[in-house]
Amino acid sequence: MTPEACPACTGRWPAPALRIADCGTTVAYLHDDQFFPGWTVLLLKRHATELWQVEPAERAALIEEVARVARAVAAAFDAVKVNYELLGNQIAHIHWHLIPRRADDPAPRSPVWSVAHEPRPLAADELAERIARIRATLRISHERR
Ligand SMILES: [Zn+2]
Repeated sequence: MTPEACPACTGRWPAPALRIADCGTTVAYLHDDQFFPGWTVLLLKRHATELWQVEPAERAALIEEVARVARAVAAAFDAVKVNYELLGNQIAHIHWHLIPRRADDPAPRSPVWSVAHEPRPLAADELAERIARIRATLRISHERR
């Protein structure tokens, strides 16, 4: 996938309203499906489809951001475990799905992709509350937004 055809590079995905924070080499967004509360997507700012296309220093920064945002999301949503998913089969631009799995998880031993459910978009007030909650826990671990 070229940057010209890439939904992430052309601003078609994720929706701007879902933006949480600029994390450095990445931008964090709330996932549009909130069936699993707090599901977050961490998007690399520049176009790359594979980890080996990212230079070591940038890759190191990227993984630090993955860890930092995962910790914030875990704290914000009382996760018992975070799932880290870097797939790119549908949108071939490096983005990590960071999915808090909570004590009330409907399928705690399964990957989220295998849990059949209706996508759960949020009303504007719920969306704002979840984004604010993650921003607050991100601020504790790092000042940069
Ligand atoms: Zn892209």
